[in-house]
Amino acid sequence: MIKYHSTNKQIINRTFQEALFEGQAPDKGLYMPDTIPKFSNNELNELKNKSFADISVSVLSKFLLPEINKQQLNLIIRSSLNFDLPLEQLTRQIFILRLDQGPTASFKDIGARTMARLMQYYLKKNNRSVTILTATSGDTGSAVASAFYGLENIKVILLFPEKEVTEVQRKQMTTLGKNIVSIAVQGKFDDCQAIVKQAFADPDLETLNLTSANSINIARLLPQTTYYFYAYLTLANAGTNKIIFSVPSGNFGNLTAGLIAKKMGLTKSFFISATNSNNSFVKFIKTQQYQPISPSLDCISNAMNVGNPSNIARIFELYNGRITEKAKILKQPNLEQLKKDLTAYSITDSETLKAIQTCYEKYHTIIEPHGAVAFAAAEQYLKQTKNLKLKDFKLIILETAHPEKFKDTVENTLKIKLPLKSRFSNIYNKKEYIFRLKPEYDTIKKFLLENI
Ligand SMILES: *Cc1c(COP(=O)(O)O)cnc(C)c1O
Repeated sequence: MIKYHSTNKQIINRTFQEALFEGQAPDKGLYMPDTIPKFSNNELNELKNKSFADISVSVLSKFLLPEINKQQLNLIIRSSLNFDLPLEQLTRQIFILRLDQGPTASFKDIGARTMARLMQYYLKKNNRSVTILTATSGDTGSAVASAFYGLENIKVILLFPEKEVTEVQRKQMTTLGKNIVSIAVQGKFDDCQAIVKQAFADPDLETLNLTSANSINIARLLPQTTYYFYAYLTLANAGTNKIIFSVPSGNFGNLTAGLIAKKMGLTKSFFISATNSNNSFVKFIKTQQYQPISPSLDCISNAMNVGNPSNIARIFELYNGRITEKAKILKQPNLEQLKKDLTAYSITDSETLKAIQTCYEKYHTIIEPHGAVAFAAAEQYLKQTKNLKLKDFKLIILETAHPEKFKDTVENTLKIKLPLKSRFSNIYNKKEYIFRLKPEYDTIKKFLLENI
């Protein structure tokens, strides 16, 4: 059975279940598996031509059996990853992997849905229940709400600033009902966050079993290795020496999952880390100095505006280095190996918009700003890499959200109207379940104690 430890090394020997419910390790590090399980070439061959769900079951079994029994794991994965991953071909070499087919049209659905069902499994088994309490400025709330919607033994409380979320974001949170409770706080996002922090430290609320659905949870990371297997196995054949993934990166969970997949057996894979102007990782690769961007820069690929990406600690560990959560390097990673496995580019907003346009004009397909950062980085890489023989590689651009989520940017850039058949239109006339409360800790505490 694989055990888990913290990247800060003070916490060791955790079961998957313990790491799942703790989220962040108590020493403020991130959980990592003690060993990375491997696939033999025979095992990989057997997975070829299998569905995304089948491949995901095999990949996650390596981590989670026997802690979870095979049949249960099978059910959890098939109900979490019940959508397709279109692999769209642009040229003989270049593809777009669309990870946007989940219920909130974000690749975050893959990790969040799997984590939610894993939590439900353990809670039912141990006859426990938890309350997830999250402050959100919009997108995280909808992904978390959707992932946990209707699950047993779990209640979700979302606190969001009444005036700082868009109508679509609000409706994605408030129209669900059932076990999802949305509180519109008459204040700012910072007020919501402060209230959540205070609640976690309040002994009066212990009976609620508060848990966060943190994005750095190991249970969100491991399911993301599966789509690398799926794309790689679909495209790799005898003539292909390199499978290049261009990965739009913010908090670097996506890229970390790719690097883990490579260690598990996807030996021909290579990675382009594509960031917006928040370029601390690009600079690190060039200079070996690591300096977080503070405050983070506001770019149009706004889900990647991260100045000090948490998952850098995991990447350092994968290459035998060590860095603290405060970005202090305790041991340099093996840079030679790191550079064999990846390269990094930073893309400006104007390059991002140009990439949306180029992709549309050259390949007649629509991408949104995050995918466009990966597209632009891939173009720069191909331009600069002279010894790459065309027939020898395939390149996969990861598209992490549906273009409709960034409708205004896409429509203004391309001077087109996106098709009216909206993926979100069905929420507009649904009833909203919403509580409006003052941004005061005591008011919210009273609400929680009386209603949850
Ligand atoms: C969260 C997010 C990212 C960044 O992913 P990381 O794993 O944090 O690097 C990229 N694109 C979109 C659309 C996102 O929502």
